Amino acid sequence: MALTTSFLDEILAFMPSDAVRLNDLEEFGRDETDDYCFEPDLVLFPGSAEDTARILALCNRYKVPVTCRGGGTGLSGGALPVKGGLVLSTDRLNRILYIDTANLQVTVEPGVITQVLQESVAEFGLYYPPDPSSRGTCTLGGNLAESAGGPHAFKYGTTRDYVLNLQVALMDGSLIWTGANVTKYATGYHLTQLMVGSEGTLGVITQAVLKLIPAPGADLLLSVPFYDLESACRAVSAIQLAGIRPSAVEFMEKEALEMSAKFLGITMPFPAEVVAELLIELDGDSLDQLYPLAERLSGILEQEGAGEIRLADQADTKETLWRLRRQIGHAVRAHSTYKEEDTVVPMSALPSLMLKVKALCRKYGVRSVCYGHAGDGNIHVNLLKEQHPDPYWNQTLPIMIEELFEEVHRLGGTVSGEHGIGWSQKRYMALVMDPVQIQLMKGIKAVFDPLGLLNPGKIWEA
Ligand SMILES: Cc1cc2nc3c(=O)[nH]c(=O)nc-3n(C[C@H](O)[C@H](O)[C@H](O)COP(=O)(O)OP(=O)(O)OC[C@H]3O[C@@H](n4cnc5c(N)ncnc54)[C@H](O)[C@@H]3O)c2cc1C
Repeated sequence: MALTTSFLDEILAFMPSDAVRLNDLEEFGRDETDDYCFEPDLVLFPGSAEDTARILALCNRYKVPVTCRGGGTGLSGGALPVKGGLVLSTDRLNRILYIDTANLQVTVEPGVITQVLQESVAEFGLYYPPDPSSRGTCTLGGNLAESAGGPHAFKYGTTRDYVLNLQVALMDGSLIWTGANVTKYATGYHLTQLMVGSEGTLGVITQAVLKLIPAPGADLLLSVPFYDLESACRAVSAIQLAGIRPSAVEFMEKEALEMSAKFLGITMPFPAEVVAELLIELDGDSLDQLYPLAERLSGILEQEGAGEIRLADQADTKETLWRLRRQIGHAVRAHSTYKEEDTVVPMSALPSLMLKVKALCRKYGVRSVCYGHAGDGNIHVNLLKEQHPDPYWNQTLPIMIEELFEEVHRLGGTVSGEHGIGWSQKRYMALVMDPVQIQLMKGIKAVFDPLGLLNPGKIWEA
């Protein structure tokens, strides 16, 4: 869309010239979702909450679409400016403002990289658990907007569970706090939780007060091989039933491990006959406390069909195993064109989900690679294009995804556990949502953004 001179003049009147970009904008038209590209007309890098609110008010007045962007690592196209207009980058809103050790809280700007926060609070013996595998490049603002999870959500919960209060810039130019810096809150509608997971469609988060916990003193990893997929999935329920709460239970199919090892240029540290691995982390006060727990857990897993379990308590071995897990997404992308679906089902339904995925793949002759947060029933199903010609892939993929999600819904699950709906998943909302639910959500959107200018075209068809 063409931006008017008067709109640009009003922007340039208060934004420093190095915070305004009018050329070479292609990188801001992409995120990590497929090959989509929607180039914006302008990118702004506000340095304060007040400037952010002023920008939104101007967009509202001049009817300019505006899309907020954090690290651009989203997997559902949330940060794509699909209607053009302006991208508001949080790159310069990147300060950790206050680590409050007395109240176990931290106040941050939204552009802080997740891993940077984790490392900063670790210096005070504190822990911020939400850790998407993209934590080295994604931002807290993006995590809040997507209610991001990660491996440690199994024990500690997702981003949603660590938010106390948010400062939000609204489309009318106002700047509000949504709650209070307290851990209990029963004061009217919970606007803080409404903002979390709203995918940048209701307001722009300009500050966040997040909850911290004391850091665990020790952790160790169990690398647990299985010779069939169902046993690996069933073992997850068995761990729970035994009353053991690992800090992570990650599932990786053999193909995922192979691709990641190849991508990292390391030798596969697993026997060839393995079909899937569970990577299980235990944490607690000390290793002395964890070794007996690991032994009890190993006994349970062996009963469920596990092969030879390897215990990793040395930093370099743990690091290699986590790198293998965290790089799977990039490795799949390097292997082939693909489509990732963020399925989530009740934990006990995991074996049925895996059976369905494999049956679908046999039916359509398409390979899949599955991995993810098995402890939460959250499996990333990657369908691979590989040798298939474009017409076959383009025709078959939507059919496969629809069949997959119908089964996910039948199993009591839904179409996204942590990646959000954004641009790429909105056509599947109707499969899992009642029309009345969607109408209620559209009503909420209309209250915050009556003209539909903030991150337009996301979550549902306009
Ligand atoms: C290799 C890889 C691994 C991943 N692993 C995980 C994982 O384990 N768990 C997981 O949950 N996700 C994972 N993701 C997905 C992605 O990293 C998360 O969704 C992350 O939260 C996005 O953060 P971001 O800063 O990159 O946001 P962006 O992609 O820039 O934006 C995402 C959404 O947030 C909105 N937004 C950004 N900042 C703000 C703000 N300040 N106010 C309001 N809205 C805002 C945007 O408008 C957009 O809708 C992974 C992605 C990759 C590429």
